[in-house]
Amino acid sequence: MANIAFIGLGNMGGPMAANLVKAGHKVTAFDLVAASRDQAKADGAAIAESSVASIKGADIVITMLPAGKHVLSVWNEVIPGMTKGALIIDCSTIDVESAKQAHALAVKHGALSVDAPVSGGTGGAKGATLTFMCGGEDKAFAAAKPVLENMGKKLVHCGGGGAGQAAKICNNMILGISMIGVGEAFALAEKLGLSHQALFDVASTSSGQCWALTSYCPVPGPVPASPANNGYKPGFASALMVKDLTLAQDAANAAGAATPLGKHAQEIYKAFDAAGHGGVDFSGIIQHVRSLAAK
Ligand code: NAD
Repeated sequence: MANIAFIGLGNMGGPMAANLVKAGHKVTAFDLVAASRDQAKADGAAIAESSVASIKGADIVITMLPAGKHVLSVWNEVIPGMTKGALIIDCSTIDVESAKQAHALAVKHGALSVDAPVSGGTGGAKGATLTFMCGGEDKAFAAAKPVLENMGKKLVHCGGGGAGQAAKICNNMILGISMIGVGEAFALAEKLGLSHQALFDVASTSSGQCWALTSYCPVPGPVPASPANNGYKPGFASALMVKDLTLAQDAANAAGAATPLGKHAQEIYKAFDAAGHGGVDFSGIIQHVRSLAAK
């Protein structure tokens, strides 16, 4: 079992750290927010007074933070204190450029590093069923694998440093676009007098089939576990979809890729967020689509 420092104990990091404790690791945790530290303590972690204090004697350091600037700031603070050859993993969703800069900091110090953003949301974090998309050297991925398996059920090694973040934003761009597409199809079906169930029964077994429809259907009924049956409580909040679509647009602009539907999806989610619905599950975008017709 490893000595693990866990920094960033929010909606995702808190339950992920708790799963590492459950798996038998010695976890030393830190967050800026006192209530998150208290929860981690109740879950069995030791609490440190700062990021730097948390990594004392750690074999593995894990960060789960809001954005690239937080990750770079924490990695800059903690890496100089890490044992040579120790491993640092970032599970946050951040921009590819910051992820590459973070890897470079680790390499300079002789530490192994992996970017390992997740999909699966807070339910996956609690249930240890996350998917990890990993970027880093083979040796670093091999070292990260056993500990990530304590928090998730699927790991994909996507390539070198930053490849995990690249995979994450490409995947979420598909998701953002396809959820709007599915919402538009249901909104059109409503106007045409076609029932939700009839459209679902046809499209879920035809060429319109996709995850946004079959696992996360944006209307109540056909998929009982989808947030549409629960007042669109997240799930995955629309504000986080705006974040990921913005990361995708930034990456597309920097790399010179054309992503016209990704750009349009970003604008649509931004409008939904600006209208005060950032806390609504992203499948609630169907409400925005319907409201466009009413104008
Ligand atoms: P959150 O805001 O609940 O948690 C982030 C935590 O980081 C907060 O508790 C904050 O206090 C802490 N923090 C910020 N700066 C810090 C610092 N310098 N030192 C120590 N702690 C610091 O966010 P979350 O929902 O847990 O998401 C974390 C990351 O995971 C984000 O990058 C997000 O995009 C990604 N993500 C979230 C979800 C989701 O459904 N919530 C799903 C997939 C990926």
